[in-house]
Amino acid sequence: MKLYCPACDSDQLSQSKPNSQAVDFMCAKCEQLFQLKSLRSWNPRKIVDAGYEAMLRAIRADRTPNLLVLQYSSTWLIQNLLLIPRVFFSESVIEKRNPLSSQARRVGWVGCNILLSQIPDDGKIAVVSAGVPVLKRVVREEFSRVKRLAEIPRRLGDGLSMSSMPSGGSGNLDFLCKNSTNQRKT
Ligand SMILES: [Zn+2]
Repeated sequence: MKLYCPACDSDQLSQSKPNSQAVDFMCAKCEQLFQLKSLRSWNPRKIVDAGYEAMLRAIRADRTPNLLVLQYSSTWLIQNLLLIPRVFFSESVIEKRNPLSSQARRVGWVGCNILLSQIPDDGKIAVVSAGVPVLKRVVREEFSRVKRLAEIPRRLGDGLSMSSMPSGGSGNLDFLCKNSTNQRKT
C-alpha cells in the first residue's frame, strides 16, 4: 500500500522501522511521524496498544506520532483507514489493561488500549471508508483544519501542544513498540 503525507503535499511516506505489529512512517518533507496499526477485527470503541507506562511518557513528552488505523477485510483488502492526528492523544484516551498473569511470558507487563470512543469525531479522519479512498485533497484539508483547531487553547487542557516533533527519528516511537526487549524497559 502506498501512503501519501496528509500533512503536506508530499506523495510518499518512507518506512522507518518495520516490525511485526506496527510500521512507522516519516514524511521526508515535513518530518511528521506516522504509525500504522493493522487490524483484521475492528472495534470502534478501542484498539489494543503496547506498553501503558511508555505510552504515558510519550504523551507527557509530546512525542506521540500520528496514528493510522488500518482495517483489512477477510480477503485482505483495505476496508477502512483512519487517521488520528497526534494532538488527540491525551491521558484520557489511554486505558490501562490488566497486568499479564503469572503464566504469561512477560509477567506483570501492563499494556494499554486507545479509547477511540473518547476521541472526538474531528480526531478521526477517514482516509479510506468502506473500501473507497477519500480524495487526497479532502484528507489534507481535514488534517490541516484539525491541526489549526488544536492550536487554539482548548478545554481539554491536558498538555496538548503542537510543537514540532523532535528530530530523533524512530527512537521516539518506543512507546508503541512492540518487541519484548523494548517492553521490558517499561
Ligand atoms: Zn509531509
